[in-house]
Amino acid sequence: MQRIGFIGLGIMGNAMAKNLVKGGFEVTVWNRSPGKCEELKQLGARQAGSPRELMEECSIAFAMLADPAAAEEVCFGKGGVLEGISRGKGYVDASTVDAATSCRIAAAVAGAGGRFLEAPVSGSRKPAEEATLIFLAAGDRSLFDEAVPCFEKMGKKTLYLGEVGNGARMKLTVNMIMGGMMAVFCEGLALGTKAGLDASDILDVIGAGAMANPMFALKGKLISQGNFDAAFPLKHMQKDMRLAVLLGDQLTLPLFLAATANESYKKAKSLGFSDEDFSSVYKAVTS
Ligand code: NAP
Repeated sequence: MQRIGFIGLGIMGNAMAKNLVKGGFEVTVWNRSPGKCEELKQLGARQAGSPRELMEECSIAFAMLADPAAAEEVCFGKGGVLEGISRGKGYVDASTVDAATSCRIAAAVAGAGGRFLEAPVSGSRKPAEEATLIFLAAGDRSLFDEAVPCFEKMGKKTLYLGEVGNGARMKLTVNMIMGGMMAVFCEGLALGTKAGLDASDILDVIGAGAMANPMFALKGKLISQGNFDAAFPLKHMQKDMRLAVLLGDQLTLPLFLAATANESYKKAKSLGFSDEDFSSVYKAVTS
């Protein structure tokens, strides 16, 4: 049985790694805060001492890390993935980063004789737990083909988007839309309730028409209950908005609404909501 590595056991990585173990793979895990490996160890995973050690003992390793800085540190840092790469090894980074970060990692992995795939995901905590994520993969085709059995244990759909960078671009495009939707949705809920309307009536009206969608239904209910427990931490949403606006900048494409929504998430961060759900952008409107 092939041994699969998993680096980064946060909200998403924890659930994804568990699904690999449940799916019958031999799994080795590593997380910066080592305590987060305990649950996986209970399920039978092995804990590596460093990303390097993990990469050395696995044929394919996945990573699910916070942001570009984390992805670079885990790859290029001391005891990092790059030190454990040798000919034929596969590294699949599922973190949401910008295309330039992915390309730097891809070049370094290829330079060390390995193969690289970026595979950011669409879907949040629940789809990660239920193995219904959508993978937006791009990069080495042979690694993609080999990794499909793993993707199938963690998700319901996997797209192959061609050259490295396209996965990041697709993910930022989709999340920019989601972040903008959430920001204006929160302003609408705040407007209606301050004007004296009942939040559940507003949600009923939205849910009955062409604007109905699972995100508004789920998050609308939680917001009106005052529940902002993180499924998708707000700091990561702001990172995605920032990277999407940066991509627009690089392409000289005006993104008026996304840029403004980014400011709402920045405001929410400054109010201390970084580690709450991204729907806590609502509190930046009402505070
Ligand atoms: P999270 O719970 O905040 O987990 C982040 C992970 O990154 C943790 O394992 C953390 O380690 C690690 N990390 C952070 N900085 C590091 C560094 N410098 N070196 C090594 N490890 C570092 O985040 P998440 O929600 O799982 O999201 C992970 C990625 O998936 C992000 O890029 C996010 O944008 C993306 N994503 C999230 C969702 C979602 O709904 N949550 C959905 C789609 C995509 P520690 O435990 O030591 O802090």
